[in-house]
Amino acid sequence: MTKLANIQKAISERKLEAVLVTSEYNRRYVSGFTGTSGVALLTPEKAYFVTDFRYTEQAARQAVGYEIVKHTGPIFETVEELLQQNGVRRLAFEADYVTVSAYKGMEATFSASLEPLSDFFEGMRQIKSADEMKAIKTACEIADKAFDHILGFIKVGMTELEVSNELEFFMRKQGATSSSFDTIVASGIRSALPHGVASEKKIEQGDFVTMDYGCYYNGYCSDMTRTISIGEPSNPKLKEIYQITLDAQLKVIDALKPGMSGIEADKIARDHIASFGYGDAFGHSLGHGIGLEIHEGPNLSMNSPQKLVPGNVVTDEPGIYLPGIGGVRIEDDLLITETGNEVLIHSPKELILL
Ligand code: ZN
Ligand code: ZN
Repeated sequence: MTKLANIQKAISERKLEAVLVTSEYNRRYVSGFTGTSGVALLTPEKAYFVTDFRYTEQAARQAVGYEIVKHTGPIFETVEELLQQNGVRRLAFEADYVTVSAYKGMEATFSASLEPLSDFFEGMRQIKSADEMKAIKTACEIADKAFDHILGFIKVGMTELEVSNELEFFMRKQGATSSSFDTIVASGIRSALPHGVASEKKIEQGDFVTMDYGCYYNGYCSDMTRTISIGEPSNPKLKEIYQITLDAQLKVIDALKPGMSGIEADKIARDHIASFGYGDAFGHSLGHGIGLEIHEGPNLSMNSPQKLVPGNVVTDEPGIYLPGIGGVRIEDDLLITETGNEVLIHSPKELILL
């Protein structure tokens, strides 16, 4: 069954008459369209992609199985014509992405009643197809190559920004279209900032340097973190928290499998870190799903009872952060398989002293 047929089956099972897809990532998911303007209108039988003259040719190539409809006036008026042609009385829309003004525009234009829809495509997106996995694996390979490259690039006296720019440039040279989020390079006491986006700070001897980065390849993300040391760490505590973080991260890899909940996964790492007295220093959740977006479901956190299933791709990223001293985070991307998980990031994890 094609992806589009699967989506239409889900629409039919949910007893939706029609769904209007307006958000960037869901629109790309349902249609394959990578442009920036247009909407997908789906019924259990029909699939329309409405866009303007700039994108009709691109849509015809990318949105396989869709009827391409060009709009010249307001886009919702063209959608309304299609709704009438199909006798749609109830139209589901993406409640989490529609602005108040867009909603008012829909209300004013559509004769169908509006039905808010949440977490519908997002749920489907959590189970990756073979094609999606191919893109994610390539994005992970590029991130791995970038780590190997950066080890030979980092020198004392360089700024964090120089390091992050090199990581991003290198990934693009390897075929990435962009980084998947603002690259984090946090050195010295800044490594205690879980989200220390690269700054003008110079890298010094004895610093721990945390690099959290990833790239987009063919629309899909990778996300990895490694913490390295520039020579012997300036504070002996850093080596201790490195080992505890690494062991927590490995324990999760050993255990993660279908049927395990996000809460259970998070607890494995959290209990390990807490047993050494650093529970309060691990202030974020263990992981998140990745795919078209850098943060999507399922989450591995204290608030996520959802159980993992084969095809999920999640991060495993425990960390310990000691203000005024420094921090550690180690992150891999894991594919949930029928029997356990497959680690998609292969860069070394034993502490590297440059
Ligand atoms: Zn990350
Ligand atoms: Zn992450």
